[in-house]
Amino acid sequence: MRAATDTMRCYDRALSRMSRRELLNIAWKLGAAAVLQPLAPVTAFAQPAFRNYPFALGVASGDPWADSVVLWTRLAPEPFVGGGMPTANVEVQWEVAGDRPFRSIVRSGTTVARPELGHSVHVEAGGLSPAREYWYRFRCGGEVSQIGRTKTAPAAGLPVDRLRFGVCGCGHYETGHFTAYGHVADEAFDFIFHTGDYIYEGRRDTGRNPNNVRQHHGQEIYTLVDYRNRYAQYKSDPHLMAAHHSAPMIVTWDDHEVDNDYAGDLDERDTPPEVFLLRRAAAYQAYFETMPLRASAMPTGPHLSLYRRLRFGNLIDLNVLDTRQYRSKQACAAIADPACRSAALDPARSMLGAAQEQWLFKNLGEPAATWTVLGQQVPTFARDNRGTNPEAPLSMDKWDGYAAGRQRLYRRLADAKTPNPIVLSGDVHTHWCADLKTDFANPKSATVGVEFTNTSVTSGGDGSEAQPNWERLHADNPHLTYHSNRRGYVACTATAQSMQADFRVIDKVTVRDAPIRTAATRVVQAGRPGSQP
Ligand code: FE
Ligand code: CA
Repeated sequence: MRAATDTMRCYDRALSRMSRRELLNIAWKLGAAAVLQPLAPVTAFAQPAFRNYPFALGVASGDPWADSVVLWTRLAPEPFVGGGMPTANVEVQWEVAGDRPFRSIVRSGTTVARPELGHSVHVEAGGLSPAREYWYRFRCGGEVSQIGRTKTAPAAGLPVDRLRFGVCGCGHYETGHFTAYGHVADEAFDFIFHTGDYIYEGRRDTGRNPNNVRQHHGQEIYTLVDYRNRYAQYKSDPHLMAAHHSAPMIVTWDDHEVDNDYAGDLDERDTPPEVFLLRRAAAYQAYFETMPLRASAMPTGPHLSLYRRLRFGNLIDLNVLDTRQYRSKQACAAIADPACRSAALDPARSMLGAAQEQWLFKNLGEPAATWTVLGQQVPTFARDNRGTNPEAPLSMDKWDGYAAGRQRLYRRLADAKTPNPIVLSGDVHTHWCADLKTDFANPKSATVGVEFTNTSVTSGGDGSEAQPNWERLHADNPHLTYHSNRRGYVACTATAQSMQADFRVIDKVTVRDAPIRTAATRVVQAGRPGSQP
């Protein structure tokens, strides 16, 4: 009640400054349509008065092109209780400058934050120069946002000396401090790729895990407002905010942005699909509202088109994939079930869905840069004990559970002679480097590319130095060239000659501000598939 009263008080102050026409329009939006003209043009609330800072969730940028970038914020003076905004359109001013003190403003404009989208804004700031740093900010109701740094992509096809990007994902709010995001911010990357599990949907843990450093608000999330509030709790973290303020983020999702291990229109509790899709629609809308995505990602009911291609000069051709929305259901839940292994080989089962697979395979045949990067969520590399134990279980939620789809992908990479494939993935909360084989059971088979799997930002807690069963696992899987059970992220450096992955780790996420270190480096030479120390 307090929040609602405060909101109305701020709203009343704003109303007192409005013209009669604006008042009529707002009154109509509040439900007084019977006594007003419903055809009055919709005007936006130009000067709202805020009792609390409206930019509590920070700012973000994303999906850099050579001439434009998405600028994001969401007005939320009461971030944890729906946002605290009046149900009216509100004008937001934005500015892009060529320097941090904003002495040279190169682009500016006004956009409208709408209640239908939780008062989020997604400005596609155009007319920018390629491969350039910019700084941006928003203004609303006399308040000024934080300043974000962003960077445009180098023009497609043109030479670029070097690009540095971070790969991170799986930040569970309860299981640790987001220190890794803070270190990502310090790197001031050209861009950050997020592999998903940006939030976790579970209820507040009330003591089951004694190592948790903080708690979710409330129950498991189901409704649009639930998802908004959960995103708000995560985005209020200063380290996550700093990461966004440091560089453009290119996002994809995994399962926890909706529900654990969901597949297409099915969750893991056998909820009727038409019911689960209501939840998916709420989750997808909140995702769009929260992320710096272009208008092309505007959801339609339970559908959101997330797969897309971004180009960075002649160096990186990035295909961002969605392995959740269109996938077939996991072959089984009991991963040790021998029948499961053959089910995983069924060519009818798909990880990408037919349309995305066609789109990707077409792109792979029209390479546009030295490095062809597939940015996605669940590992494609095989991780099993096939060598010594053919009956060993596979994880059916990863590409291991969609082995026919993986073979199609790898065969396409080989047949199309796609240059220097690099796969990025997350989800498994441990670092991996893997050489991707046309036949993982045969170490002599061709290597089609290399995969860098980032560990989690926090999920799983502190982790450990010991790598359980690594010797045995490596003996069975000689294509695995690195593993770490610590938290952190991957820092990648691409040049015309090589792609280097620095596996960055933090010893503890249960204490604040632990330092970062590079635990290992793996390098791929252009034209020579496979990773070396
Ligand atoms: Fe995760
Ligand atoms: Ca996951």
